[in-house]
Amino acid sequence: MTEKSNSRPALQTRIVQALRYIEEQSGAVVPAIQPAATYARDENYDIRKPYWYRRDGSEATAHAEAIIAELEGAADTLLFASGMSAATAVIDNLPTGAHVVAPEVMYHGVRMQLLAAEAKGRIRLSSYAAGEVDALRSAVVPSDTALVWVETPNNPNWEVTDIEAAAGIARAAGATLITDCTATPPNMTRALDLGADISFHSATKYLAGHSDVTAGALSVRTVDARWEGIELIRKLQGTVLQSFDAWLLIRGMRTLFLRTEKASANAMAVARHFEGHPLVERVHYPGLASDPGHAVAAKQTNGQFGGMLSIIVKGSEQTAIDVCRYCETFYPATSLGGVESLIEHRKTVSGEGFPVHPRLLRLSIGIEEAADLIADLEQALKRAAR
Ligand SMILES: *Cc1c(COP(=O)(O)O)cnc(C)c1O
Repeated sequence: MTEKSNSRPALQTRIVQALRYIEEQSGAVVPAIQPAATYARDENYDIRKPYWYRRDGSEATAHAEAIIAELEGAADTLLFASGMSAATAVIDNLPTGAHVVAPEVMYHGVRMQLLAAEAKGRIRLSSYAAGEVDALRSAVVPSDTALVWVETPNNPNWEVTDIEAAAGIARAAGATLITDCTATPPNMTRALDLGADISFHSATKYLAGHSDVTAGALSVRTVDARWEGIELIRKLQGTVLQSFDAWLLIRGMRTLFLRTEKASANAMAVARHFEGHPLVERVHYPGLASDPGHAVAAKQTNGQFGGMLSIIVKGSEQTAIDVCRYCETFYPATSLGGVESLIEHRKTVSGEGFPVHPRLLRLSIGIEEAADLIADLEQALKRAAR
């Protein structure tokens, strides 16, 4: 006789087991990948599932969406082929002339999208200094602003924005708050619980975690006409996440909790080691007690501070570039949130005209041995300073 206990397993347990996945026919504990681009209707000519063509989605995509919805405490989640295509859907869904408020400095791809939409007269754009809630409040126009964009912690200086405060401002103005918390995935920051209307993540990063898939997630507390508009854009543009990528994402998310815990611990060790280092001018990491965003981060990122940090090296711009060249453990590559550590000279990557300190190196700290990462940076900094 089996008795089912009433107690629901913890969130981490549910995510590790991909929501207790068991394939009905075989008992397999891992889902199969179904690559079909079209689905047959049944004998009554009815559809069998809510997807009947590739652009609607698939079983694997729906499964990955259910896992992210669980992590976010969301009513619904939509997965896109990349973070950028998810952001595109939100921007495209705005009425022409909509007023948008976004950080002056933020993830450069989204910033470029917003500027391009403004240049075409699609939207009106106002900007605020990242992390500054008072500046955000001043930029919002009551009864006019349609969308408030918050990135926290914010690329590439990792300013922290108080999501609850931003949500209060957006709500009072009748605006929608979208948060990009890619650097602290939903096991760390539950943006919807803090008042965000739409939670955005580049699932390419921590959610997938292995630098082998691009994916973007949008999650909401309420399913409404706007949400349906966003879903329609995904269908008409064909930007739904494909089955193979959804499968990789599901596999990656099983270890999300472990990976972010180790990356956070490693990043803290690296940040502490290089704070006050003779070859480093400044370390930007919300986990440091000296960081201006520390107190807010401590309350909204679940006691961990994530794997992203930036350092401003002493010397010249070339010194900073040389540090990337001389690293032997860090990969000199863009992106973030994978198991392997990456270093990048952000100015080279985001391009001229984007305001970033010329000596800033963005580090995505992986899950390797912290001592190896510290030693690698030490030798690269010393060699670059010569
Ligand atoms: C990577 C990233 C994006 C864009 O996502 P892609 O999956 O690369 O398209 C948006 N915001 C942040 C903070 C990111 O790191």
